[in-house]
Amino acid sequence: MLFKCRNCGGNIVYDPVKKAMCCPHCESLDSEEKLPGSSIVNNCPNCGAPIVLKEHTSATKCPSCGSYLIIDERVQEVYEPELIIPFKLGKNQVKEILYKEFGKRPFTPAGFLSYAGLEKMEGNYVPFFMYDYSADINYSAVGTKVRSWTSGSYRYTETSYFDVVREMDADFEKVPVDASVEMDDTKMDLMEPYKYGELEKYQDKYLSGFYAEKYNMPSTELEGRAEEKVQRDSEELLKSTLGGYATLTNVNKSIRTDKKGVKYALLPVWEYIFGYGGTEYKFMVNGQTGKVVGTTPVAKGKVIAYGATVFGLVTLIGFMIRMALMAL
Ligand SMILES: [Zn+2]
Ligand SMILES: [Zn+2]
Repeated sequence: MLFKCRNCGGNIVYDPVKKAMCCPHCESLDSEEKLPGSSIVNNCPNCGAPIVLKEHTSATKCPSCGSYLIIDERVQEVYEPELIIPFKLGKNQVKEILYKEFGKRPFTPAGFLSYAGLEKMEGNYVPFFMYDYSADINYSAVGTKVRSWTSGSYRYTETSYFDVVREMDADFEKVPVDASVEMDDTKMDLMEPYKYGELEKYQDKYLSGFYAEKYNMPSTELEGRAEEKVQRDSEELLKSTLGGYATLTNVNKSIRTDKKGVKYALLPVWEYIFGYGGTEYKFMVNGQTGKVVGTTPVAKGKVIAYGATVFGLVTLIGFMIRMALMAL
């Protein structure tokens, strides 16, 4: 499909700053008309030029007339996203972020922040699955605490033994796993965190003006990665309650996870590709928060990663801890 302007016939795009459909030709707001018909086999519904699509592309730009096209059958039925975080930052704002981040760096090559280069930046919606899990964490062990003191010419050591029991229920909401093969998983993990409170119900119009990809594989094939995250975070949660013991022995531990649901969502990423010395450097900017991930071409191939390592978003909507501490 294609969004056309009722006033001038131009291609209407979603403007992240105005939060509205905006005609770049006559500046009308919300004057869009949906023209169905962009399909995998079709030519551009606006100019008739042939469109070559990658296997998973669901929104693209006509190379001939520059119209933004949404491929109907890749955003409908089983491929219809349930949720989306619409782009919040427009191209100009992302340029500002890059100027600020790299403008004063001594080793930034000339041309890196050129107008023409930055103008070629494109916004991309990346497919994600958001899994809900609950975890049932059970733990028991024998813990010791040791106390020493001196009295007269004697040194005393007292070891106390404890039954350490933890029974915890934790709910994990919207654990994200990217569903794109092409998208680098490590980079995508660095894009986190998104503010998931701003997820909205999916609408076609948000895709106009951007590229998008449909999920590459079904959610069942990716749930292992979500489960790993849940296991890891459950371990952390458990560990945070076990401080203060000198030793923990006779450990009995079980973490049982249970998938509660999954939703298909699209998340916004700006991409800037810069060619330098025969290498392509790819920068990604979180289209919602402005976080930059990428490495600049600098002397000796020194690698700088922007943004700290990330834990992945795990919202603990509630957990209950019951503990029984009993001195033997
Ligand atoms: Zn118009
Ligand atoms: Zn066209």
